[in-house]
Amino acid sequence: MDNKALYKIGYGLYVITASLNGKDNGMICNTVCQVASDPLLISVSINKANYSLDMIKQSGKMNVHSISEVAPFELFKRFGFVSGRDVDKFEHDMMVRTPNGLPLVTTYTNAAISLKVKEYIDLGSHGLFLCEVEDAQVFNNNETMSYSYYQSNVKPKIKKEEKKKGYVCKICGYVYEGDELPDDFICPICKHPASDFEKIN
Ligand code: FE
Repeated sequence: MDNKALYKIGYGLYVITASLNGKDNGMICNTVCQVASDPLLISVSINKANYSLDMIKQSGKMNVHSISEVAPFELFKRFGFVSGRDVDKFEHDMMVRTPNGLPLVTTYTNAAISLKVKEYIDLGSHGLFLCEVEDAQVFNNNETMSYSYYQSNVKPKIKKEEKKKGYVCKICGYVYEGDELPDDFICPICKHPASDFEKIN
């Protein structure tokens, strides 16, 4: 079996926002999909390690924003590489909210959809939310960023002249210098596990 076939599945990238008991949070995922048209249903799969999962489970709602191709790496650092357990990802923002009370992210995105959770399915590593659409708006006509666009154009590249021996994080581009990457290694930038690293050279 060639596991690389899985990398050929196309994904978009999304900012998900959630609120619970006065606390707001945002995260990045690549797993938003319209799965039915009548009734209109959207599925969102979220890793259980994400703080937002519990917030969405308890509140029963989330906003989904498609990230556009103009988004810089900073957007991914802000929402994707730190946990809402440790920082408030919205503290410096002029907060705009949708009628459901959740944060609206209009910078570097092209549309927002407010979702109401209909069903939660435990998938092991992830939880799957099956959702109805409560509201939707388009901000602009910029292209939605695909995961492969992020990999090719947004994630920092290792410069050839400073190409080191070691392992590179496929998510954020962090380089671990050394002959062996420990199995329990966690990327210090994006917190992804050793399985998301690949050998360089
Ligand atoms: Fe990383």
